[in-house]
Amino acid sequence: MPTYTGIPISGSINIGKVKLYKQRRYPPFPKSINKTQVETELSNLKQGILQLEEDIKVFLHDPEVSQLDKDILSTHLMIVTDIEIAQILEKAVSDELLSAPQAISDSFNKIISNFEKMDNSYFAQRADDYKDVAHRLMISVLGDREQEQLKFYPSDIVFVKEITPSLVSILSKAGVKAYCTEHGSHTSHSSILTRALDFTALVAKVSFISELKDGETAILDALNEKIVVNPDKHQLESYQQILLELKEKEIRLKQELSKPAVTKNNVKISIKANIEYPAELSNVLNNYCDGIGLFRTEFIYMNRNSLPDEEEQTRVYENLLTKLNNLPVVIRTFDLGGDKLTYLQQFSREENPYLGCRGIRFSLEQDAMFKTQVRAVLRASLKGNALLMFPMIISTEDFKAARQIVTNCMAELDEENIPYNKNLPIGAMIETPSAALCAEQLAAVCDFFSLGTNDLVQYTLAVDRNNDKVAPFYVQHHPAVLTLIRKTIFAAKNAGIPVSICGEMASELKYVPLLVGLGIQELSINPAQAAEVKAVIRNCDEHLFELVTSFDFNTDIAAVEQLIKHILKPYYTLQS
Ligand code: PEP
Ligand code: MG
Repeated sequence: MPTYTGIPISGSINIGKVKLYKQRRYPPFPKSINKTQVETELSNLKQGILQLEEDIKVFLHDPEVSQLDKDILSTHLMIVTDIEIAQILEKAVSDELLSAPQAISDSFNKIISNFEKMDNSYFAQRADDYKDVAHRLMISVLGDREQEQLKFYPSDIVFVKEITPSLVSILSKAGVKAYCTEHGSHTSHSSILTRALDFTALVAKVSFISELKDGETAILDALNEKIVVNPDKHQLESYQQILLELKEKEIRLKQELSKPAVTKNNVKISIKANIEYPAELSNVLNNYCDGIGLFRTEFIYMNRNSLPDEEEQTRVYENLLTKLNNLPVVIRTFDLGGDKLTYLQQFSREENPYLGCRGIRFSLEQDAMFKTQVRAVLRASLKGNALLMFPMIISTEDFKAARQIVTNCMAELDEENIPYNKNLPIGAMIETPSAALCAEQLAAVCDFFSLGTNDLVQYTLAVDRNNDKVAPFYVQHHPAVLTLIRKTIFAAKNAGIPVSICGEMASELKYVPLLVGLGIQELSINPAQAAEVKAVIRNCDEHLFELVTSFDFNTDIAAVEQLIKHILKPYYTLQS
């Protein structure tokens, strides 16, 4: 019963049967051609591209296909119809005398390896999409458009070296609930889709998939970062017991999902959702969230080779606001830069992108792009309860500069007689130490704050949030971070403006009592966590507030750990 360690991507525990998935082997094809075959091969290539384009469009118009799948397929369509890629492929056929499939394989491999070399999670994500398209294009050109050759069953745990977004969709449609890979990153498109579709998934830390056999029993334990193959009787029984308890707990929590999150001493905590794609909306509504606390707008635009125009953006925001039916929707302006790059930046790589032209700096530099987004938000603002928020603020100066652009856009719309919400609240992400340290000054000019702890931790501790090697130093409960959070909450309360937390900390049960005890009254979380987070809040009482307020944060990490792991534990330990 070998046990391997893995990095959890999504979900909890799943027991099933190993299903090995190997990328399809293509039928044999010639590598090179002679000059007389060029025309035929170019025509095969064009035919294959057109066919794939056609196939994707059919899916895009299919009402049965989920919006999330459609978002990903749109990215694929952009790659398939990219004129530059078509030219690269044609050149490989006519100049290098490669067969159409060989041209696809060589050209896409080059593009993919360029992305992978960039050591950047945004590009890793793009590489995934290119792999997916290359595979589908090969099938299309080879005239074998049968969908993937394997049949999957709900009891399967799929083991695959690397997963693509379209394979995630195929698995989900077949009812599969768990998979394990040997490569992958938390922020890839595949992983985002995996979480939205509620899989249990891990990336194994060592290569072992080639040693597995179909039909063996496997356990994926994303809660304890373990993958167990061929468990013994005792292991299997104890996991079956845990699963039973988890199921019961889930049912009980779901029953209480619609209850508000109020502490025992009557402090109401608003639970909002973080979303990347409008398609995640059903998760927000099904989990009874009080609105959207963070809409990461850059996600829906990142994989494009052009920016969406004002009309298109207006429609996206209007749609979201209308569906939320007057619940608040915090629209964060593009947070581009860092590891989230656009076609605008791929050629101007910076030494330290996280310390470079990122977030609001990038928007202020690309002011035409920024204005288009702001005008779209303003135009949509009357459809519901919209709030606008700027990322990566470091001072009142950059906040005011961004706000001035909003004021200018408002004046333009007035001239054009286009209505909008003149009182649109405008807030700042507090995710840099400077913003937290200047929270009092910022509170005087902002309508609300949202603490972005993911970046606040990264910048306070000088630890790259995406670098596995320094992960042990990425301590979210470091007293320096907590002191900045406390200071921000204090400044917001003094100024009478709302403050929320939208970083991952807010979704981690062990931090919820601490954050509530620090006085936070709004958490913006992964909506799938809503039931548990609400249950923890309902456990909180007056004594918790006393414990946290009297704690001396001028201390070391160990003392905070002691507080969380021992003293606060009863508050976040939910009864099974
Ligand atoms: C954060 O930094 O905590 C945050 C919510 O923003 P993002 O993760 O998109 O950088
Ligand atoms: Mg951030």
